[in-house]
Amino acid sequence: MDRVPEVQTRALGSSVALTLGGCPVCGCERRLRVTERNHLSVVRCPQCGQRYVWPVPSPEMLARIYDRSYYQGAEGSLGFKDYAGLAPARHRMFARHLDQIERLVPRGRVLDVGCATGDFLAVARTRGWEALGVDPSPAREQALAAGIAMVGQTIHDAQVEPGSVELVTFWDVLEHVQNPVADLRRARELLSPQGIVAITVPDSGSAVARLSGNRWFGYKTAGEHLQFFSAATLRKTFGAAGLELMVQRPVAWSCTLGFLVDRAGLYLGPPGRALNRLASRTGLGGLIVDVPQVNQFAIGRRTERWASNVAA
Ligand SMILES: [Zn+2]
Repeated sequence: MDRVPEVQTRALGSSVALTLGGCPVCGCERRLRVTERNHLSVVRCPQCGQRYVWPVPSPEMLARIYDRSYYQGAEGSLGFKDYAGLAPARHRMFARHLDQIERLVPRGRVLDVGCATGDFLAVARTRGWEALGVDPSPAREQALAAGIAMVGQTIHDAQVEPGSVELVTFWDVLEHVQNPVADLRRARELLSPQGIVAITVPDSGSAVARLSGNRWFGYKTAGEHLQFFSAATLRKTFGAAGLELMVQRPVAWSCTLGFLVDRAGLYLGPPGRALNRLASRTGLGGLIVDVPQVNQFAIGRRTERWASNVAA
């Protein structure tokens, strides 16, 4: 069950970059080994508890993960076999996220970081938001074709006036980045005074993750995922970026039955593959499923606004 699929091992190779520096959340330079996956080590910070990939994979290795096959035709536990097939599921999930966001901030400009094919921005636009996106992957071509204003590749090179954005979103993105605190700090800089940051990340502190210990299936994503956030370490990450959490809760992740049984085939071996055949025979593969509690949803605002409200 722990065997990494052959194609994935070949694709990743074993080159890693030796990057100096400490825990991406608290800076602590001590680390405890958790497990090895995909020729990479997952470590835990003894000070704040953040788990992260160490050393950080080389740019070449990361480029191999995010090549054209990431969103279409990927095999194994990294990337997507059919990202476009999940679009209806994503639309439903993004509408739910926006329902919550629109209670907290007036509609204005939204910057979606790692917007991929632009699905979230397409939903936001129909609800009256001015949609801006950044993404470094080839998926950005599709966002451009859909008429989304692409303003850069990452939040750091985004051509956006500081203080001009009501909403910055990172949907399943912060777990992919090397320095989530720096990304959130930059998001904070772009926010208008009433602006908010909304994110989802996988919940690495879930009951399943805790019970499975270092055998947790989430570690199979090492390389693609560089950070494994618990509720506590996510809160610390926001705090380190000068953001105060207004909302933090477990949230469902929407996908299709076909996607789920495909992953089951990967993680569960023969019983999973039998499920997979059943789903394709019954034609239920396209059914949208909300998988409860796999993600954390969080909304943050600038800490000093809170402080000035208290003073007033
Ligand atoms: Zn730490």
